Amino acid sequence: MVDDRFAEARRRLILEIEQEAAVTEPWTGRSRFAPAVMAAIARVPRHEFVATTERDIAYANRPLPIGHGQTISQPYIVAVMTDLLDIAPGDRVLEIGTGCGYQAAVLAELAKEVFSVEVVPTLAAAARERLIRLGYRNVSIRVGDGYDGWPEHAPFDGIIVTSAPPRIPDRLAEQLRPGGRLVIPVGAAGETQMLFRCEKTSDGAITKEAKLPVAFVPMVPAGPAVE
Ligand code: SAH
Repeated sequence: MVDDRFAEARRRLILEIEQEAAVTEPWTGRSRFAPAVMAAIARVPRHEFVATTERDIAYANRPLPIGHGQTISQPYIVAVMTDLLDIAPGDRVLEIGTGCGYQAAVLAELAKEVFSVEVVPTLAAAARERLIRLGYRNVSIRVGDGYDGWPEHAPFDGIIVTSAPPRIPDRLAEQLRPGGRLVIPVGAAGETQMLFRCEKTSDGAITKEAKLPVAFVPMVPAGPAVE
């Protein structure tokens, strides 16, 4: 699955993520990420998730366009968000915003099952085809509004949101199990957003810790029912 032509670029990327993790420790409280998270990033062939014209820069530590005005997140951001989820091997994880499926693949390396919701049908279809081709069998993708989560598969051990809503959507908080983690950028479109790590306590309350200022595309309300 992994094309050796990119092995060196992938190794360099891992070093860059490690350096950035050390530099951002005052924000995140984590000077290094879990070895399993770094191993997952080292395994996922990022060049398979970008347009062929972008392949040579697939392992640059920066976001890249994936069409429809959307971007595949910067690898460091994928790493820090994945680390903050504290995934255990038996976990079931919900992702909102499948995009090209890269983050879903990283999650699939770590969790038992990944459920991902994408609002743009063509992105969802392409990601589904790509993940199957790359051999990921534990990812399910649904076209729909991420504000609704995926209630049929709830509760989740972890929920990760890869576009920014103006506030934490109630239905996502509801779909976390007690002890479950929610990693989410929050902020109005065009303003600085804050990445939060939330946790549901045993009495159902949501604790919220600000982790890092970030810049995500806004989470779009898909239907008229969403305010
Ligand atoms: N995790 C992705 C990055 C996605 S960019 C990856 O690894 O490639 C953000 C994605 O969120 C886009 O694909 C966008 O279409 C999607 N999105 C935005 N608003 C959404 C919503 N309300 N529900 C579901 N997906 C949404």
